[in-house]
Amino acid sequence: MTDTRYLVHGVFWDASPAVPGDAGIPDGGSPVMRLQDPGGGFTDLALDAGTRLGFRLAAGGKSCLGHHKVHGPADRDHVLCPDRAQAVKGSQCERCFVVDDSRLIHDFHRGGHVPPGLRAYLMQPHWLYIATFASGASKVGTAANLRKWKRLAEQGAVVARYVARADDGRVVRNLEDLVTRDAGVPQQIRSAAKAAALTGPAPAVELDALNFGLAGVVRRLLAGAGAGGGGFEVVDERWLRPGLSDAVCGQAVRHAYPHELSTGAHGFRIDSLSGSVALARLDGADLEFVVNLGRLKARTIELGGHGSDVPAVQEPLF
Ligand SMILES: [Zn+2]
Repeated sequence: MTDTRYLVHGVFWDASPAVPGDAGIPDGGSPVMRLQDPGGGFTDLALDAGTRLGFRLAAGGKSCLGHHKVHGPADRDHVLCPDRAQAVKGSQCERCFVVDDSRLIHDFHRGGHVPPGLRAYLMQPHWLYIATFASGASKVGTAANLRKWKRLAEQGAVVARYVARADDGRVVRNLEDLVTRDAGVPQQIRSAAKAAALTGPAPAVELDALNFGLAGVVRRLLAGAGAGGGGFEVVDERWLRPGLSDAVCGQAVRHAYPHELSTGAHGFRIDSLSGSVALARLDGADLEFVVNLGRLKARTIELGGHGSDVPAVQEPLF
C-alpha cells in the first residue's frame, strides 16, 4: 500500500490520557501522525522513538482538513471536507472555515453566541498555564479540563506550570487576556520559532527558572484580581513533559532540517519529539536534524521507503 495518497492532519497527542497516570502510562504516552486515506478513513501512525518515517509529497499545495462540530465536553464530530478542496484559510477551505465550531471559541468570553454543544464544552473547567519554549520565550494559554495535559504536549512546551483552575472557558479566557494586558505575556508563539529554538535549546535550569519566575508573577497578579469576577482558584502545579520530548529539549547545537517539506522525498528515523517537532537522524549520516513535522499538515503524501538526501554540513558548527 505504498501508493495510497494520504492527507496529513497533523501530529496529535490526543490518543494519550487526559492526565499522565490516568491510563497507567507514567508520562502520557505516545503521539501519532494522523492520516486520511482517499476513502475518508483515518490511520494513526505512531511516532515512537525509533520510528522510521519515509514519504514523498504526492501533490502540490494544501488540501482542506474539514471542520469540527462540538456536541459536548468529550463529544465532537470531525466532518471531512466533501470536496477535499484547496485549503485557503490555514488548513481549511472557505466553506469549512466558516462552519467550524472552534472558530467561535475565541469570541465566547466577549459575549459571542455559541451553539449548545460548544457551550457545554466551554462550560467545563479550564486550566490557565504558562509555557516556556526552548529559546526562553513564554506564553500564557488555556486548556479544557479533558485536554489539560495534551494541550501542552501538542504545543511543544519545554517547561510549563498551571497557574489557575477556572470554572469554565469564559472565566479562563478573561484571565488569559488579563495576564497578557497586565504582565505582557503573549498568547501565541509561532510554530516556526519553536522549531528554530530547538536547534539550540537553552539550558534546562535556565528555562525552568524563567518559567518558575513568570508563573509566580502571574499567580500574584491573579490573586490580586480574585476580588473581581471570581470563578477561579490560583494553583501551583507543574506540567509533566513526555519522556519522548527529553532528548530534543536537551541543550545541544543541531542543524535545522535542510529540505523543504512541501516537495520531494524524505526519510529519517525519529529519535525524539516535542509537539510536532522531531529530532531526526538521516540514513548514512551521524547527524541529528530538527524537523518541523507541522509543515506537513494539510499536505498529501505517499508513504514508502524514501530517504532524505544527506546535506554536506560542517561539524562542529562552532
Ligand atoms: Zn473544506
